Parts: sequence; structure tokens; C-alpha cells
Amino acid sequence: MSQTLPGTIPASLFEACADTIAETARELAALGWTPATSSNFSMRIDADHAAITVSGRHKGRLGREDIMLIDLDGHAVGTDARPSAETALHTQIYRRWPQMGAVLHTHSRTQSVVSRLFAGDGVIRLQGWELQKAITGYLTHESTLDIPVFPNTQHMPDLVAQVDAWLDAGKPLHAYLIDGHGIYTWGRDMAEAQRHLEALEFLLGCELDLRKSRAS
Ligand SMILES: [Zn+2]
Repeated sequence: MSQTLPGTIPASLFEACADTIAETARELAALGWTPATSSNFSMRIDADHAAITVSGRHKGRLGREDIMLIDLDGHAVGTDARPSAETALHTQIYRRWPQMGAVLHTHSRTQSVVSRLFAGDGVIRLQGWELQKAITGYLTHESTLDIPVFPNTQHMPDLVAQVDAWLDAGKPLHAYLIDGHGIYTWGRDMAEAQRHLEALEFLLGCELDLRKSRAS
């Protein structure tokens, strides 16, 4: 795949983002959170563009050529490659929050199971866990961290509308689950997005264990 960049985007900037995405993807794949070419990752390049994983590649083996440029309407820029099917969910984050610089979406086993378990409630309420403090803006375990669970669909505009409705209701949002599918989370840079993802994976695993032990 060849990627031509607009004159406003230095090759070094795009390559640095592509390398960061590929490196993060390798780490997440090694944890088993990106099975069977699932999951997608992106980083903001500037006010109007992002770098995102090309559709269908194994996330443990990404190189620079597996990362492509898109505009914030989700269109490919300077390449014939096809971006991830869920690109609209990434660009939505960048459009709504100019300060956000990275979006991560994975399909771990815990994320998948927990999303099914809480789909009926439509939300997972995290409270009392020390690791909630890993989410930017949360200073104590006594805070309440709500992670919505949206119904799954292959029609991206429906998912985008559900996220918009949550945000337009004025509710805080740091991540969301999609039923039977996986999680989306983000941060001002890749390090923050990855910290959020790791914390949420841990917290969701704790909630799952708690449910199991209470049920037995
Ligand atoms: Zn997905």
C-alpha cells in the first residue's frame, strides 16, 4: 500500500504515529485482546486528520504500511487502502474532543463477556475500586465511573448516534462497551489511552469475578 501525504503533514509525523500505533497494537495483541484481526487503533495527526489501522490486518504484525491517513469524516486520504469498518467511531471522538489524540478499540474476552452480562442494564457502574483513579479526572475510589453498554449493530451511524445521545445528555464518557463486541476508550495521547484501556480491562475483570463469586 502506498500512502501519499498532503503537503501540510510531514512524513516524520505520520511515520511516528504509525510506529506508535503498530507498537501499541503488538502489545495489546500479545495480551490476547485483538483476536482474529479484530480491533482498531488510531491517532490524531492534526485538526483535520488521523492515522488509523487498515481493515482486516492481524494486529500483532502491523507495520507502517498497515496504517493509513483519513480525514475526520472517515475518508481515506492519499491511499486506496480501506480503513477499519468502525472508523466513524474514531472520528467521532476526534471531532467531539479537539484535545483527544488517540483512540483504542479491542475485543478481549473479558470485555466481550462483561458487555453481554450488563447489556440489559445498559451501563456498568464502577465504584469502590482503587484503579478508577487511572482514569483521567478521577481522584478517588469513591467516585462513580459509568461505562455505557450500547447494543451492537453493523450500521455505524446507529452506534455514532447512541454515543452522541449519551454525550448530549451531559453524561461523562471515558469509554463505552458494545454488546457482545468490545470496548472503545481514548486519551489525549497514546499513553493515556493505553492506561485507560488497561485499567478498564482490569476493572471489568474484577466486576466479572465479583458477580461470579456472589452467584456461587
Ligand atoms: Zn470491533
